[in-house]
Amino acid sequence: MRQTFLLLIIAIIVVSLLVGAIYMVLRSLLDVVEDWQTARELKELKTEVSEQQQAQDQEHEIRLQNDCEHQWEGSLVGFPPGVCVRCGLEKTRPRGACDHVWRVEMKEVPGAVCETCGKQYHRAPSAI
Ligand SMILES: [Zn+2]
Ligand SMILES: [Zn+2]
Repeated sequence: MRQTFLLLIIAIIVVSLLVGAIYMVLRSLLDVVEDWQTARELKELKTEVSEQQQAQDQEHEIRLQNDCEHQWEGSLVGFPPGVCVRCGLEKTRPRGACDHVWRVEMKEVPGAVCETCGKQYHRAPSAI
C-alpha cells in the first residue's frame, strides 16, 4: 500500500514536470513565431519608408529640373541660405504653401523677395 502511494507521488511529479516542459517549449516556439512576425513587419515598414523616401527624392529631383545649373554656394547680396544664385529656387522645398523663388531686391538694405508669394527676406544686418 505504501509503495503504491509512493508511485502515485512520483507519477504526479513526472506528469507535472512533463507539462511544465511542454509549456516551456510551446512558449519559446510562440516567442520565435512572434519574433519572426515582428521582424517581418519591421521589414515591411522599412520597405514602405524607403519607398516613400524614394518618392520624395524623386519629387525633389523633378522640382529642381528647371534647366538651371544650380549654384547653391556663394549666395550674393541678400539671398537666404541654401538658395540657387542663378534661379532663386531653394535647395530643399521650404515648409509652407509656397515654393519660394527668390529675386534680389535692391532697396536701402539689399534683400530678397519671393516672386510668387511676395515674402521678403532680409539677412540680419552684419556688423561692419
Ligand atoms: Zn538654379
Ligand atoms: Zn514664396
